[in-house]
Amino acid sequence: MPTENRIGVIGTGYVGLVSAACFAHLGLTVHGVDRDEVKIGLLNKGIMPIYEQDLAPLVAAGKQQGRLTFSTDLPRMVQEVDTIFIAVGTPAQEKTGAADLSHLRSVALGLAPLLQAHRYLVIKSTVPVGTSAQFSAWLSERNPDAQFTMVSNPEFLREGMAVSDFLQPDRVLLGVETPEARAHMENVYAPLSEKGTRVLFTNIVSAELIKYAANGFLATKIAFVNEMASLCDTLGANIEHLVAGIGTDKRIGPGYLQPGPGFGGSCFPKDTLALQDMGRAAGMPLSIIEGAIVANARHKQRMVDNITALLGHDLRGKRLAIWGLAFKAGTDDTRESAAVFIVKALLKAGATLQVIDPVVTTKKWDNLALGESVQDTARLISADSCAASIENADAIVVLTEWDLFKTVDWAALKKGYKDSAFMPVIDFRNLYDPLTMGSLGIRYISLGRPSSVETLA
Ligand code: NAD
Repeated sequence: MPTENRIGVIGTGYVGLVSAACFAHLGLTVHGVDRDEVKIGLLNKGIMPIYEQDLAPLVAAGKQQGRLTFSTDLPRMVQEVDTIFIAVGTPAQEKTGAADLSHLRSVALGLAPLLQAHRYLVIKSTVPVGTSAQFSAWLSERNPDAQFTMVSNPEFLREGMAVSDFLQPDRVLLGVETPEARAHMENVYAPLSEKGTRVLFTNIVSAELIKYAANGFLATKIAFVNEMASLCDTLGANIEHLVAGIGTDKRIGPGYLQPGPGFGGSCFPKDTLALQDMGRAAGMPLSIIEGAIVANARHKQRMVDNITALLGHDLRGKRLAIWGLAFKAGTDDTRESAAVFIVKALLKAGATLQVIDPVVTTKKWDNLALGESVQDTARLISADSCAASIENADAIVVLTEWDLFKTVDWAALKKGYKDSAFMPVIDFRNLYDPLTMGSLGIRYISLGRPSSVETLA
């Protein structure tokens, strides 16, 4: 018989693993299941399959306390638990951008015959409106006697901050259709609500849509501030002043107003595409979201153009130090990373790249999906320090806001410059103070700020 507050998690990726470890930390007994045997093998050996700040100690503690187990054994997990969280991927389909629900479907087909006794099935994956109903239909088609109640529980954690976001969320969102489901989920989340976390209940359809609305809004905010940064460059205004000027307005708020090389990662790009698809399919095109997608694509290309405007379109024979591949600091995730987009374009233009990222090491370069456009990945060289990355380099390009880069001793580093009079630092994260860089005699170019020597066109 399942004991209360024993939960299962299907999919131990970024969301599933964080959820499993955090629920165990909150006192629940958790069984994480994944179809990826390598991932489960690593977890069982005590090796983390991903890098996420603060996650490793939580996983280790959960396992040591006997509250967190991992396996590929779906039937055993279903036997042991009364609540099953589903956190498999929902990537964008290549042609339409619509969410690909094939992983969810395979979960439904695997679960259906196992649901002889009632279980709560909680979809944590980000899924289009109507997916919980679709999931329910897949289950019932496969096993008309399957016993279950659907719940929607979209996840709002940010990679890089995932553990603290899960344990101190702005809110927990639960889409339910019955009072029993509400009471059950109140109980599951009691360890958080007792500490003051706000738990919002809606119907399932609203919960599904809220997740996309939140990501659509945040992505739009980033696309907006990136366009403003480019406008600042053109007009001679300062993006930092602009952000302070608008971010202090309570109606706007300061979050997600940091300019960068373009939004990326495993959520904003695919979720904006899926939201666009949802709007179009509903006969209600979402012009703001569509605009944000276009603006972001243009912005990423503008970053490449900024580099080639400075160094030339033909980069054969040029060496660039690339600082960062992860889509943001605190994670090893490179999915849809603007850094990877820029790296691909620079390789295509013939450059040799000396790359440093503290967590996206060569072991993970297979995930970069550099594609056929890049014939010669021998021009992608791993550097094990910032100093090594600039050996014989013609420019430094800063793409991820890692602390390692923020704390660079520029006066010392500059001694290793090939040509100290010219070598520019092109910083798409605005990590350094232009005046300080100028006073060190460094040719410094950043986003939307007057630079030491020049501004971007
Ligand atoms: P991920 O790719 O890191 O992890 C998904 C895991 O599911 C993988 O380990 C995969 O092997 C496993 N899986 C796939 N099919 C399976 C099956 N049939 N049975 C068992 N395991 C299976 O994905 P992620 O980044 O954790 O995202 C998961 C979902 O959460 C997505 O819908 C995403 O949009 C959403 N989300 C992600 C984040 C984020 O920051 N990554 C934040 C909020 C929401």
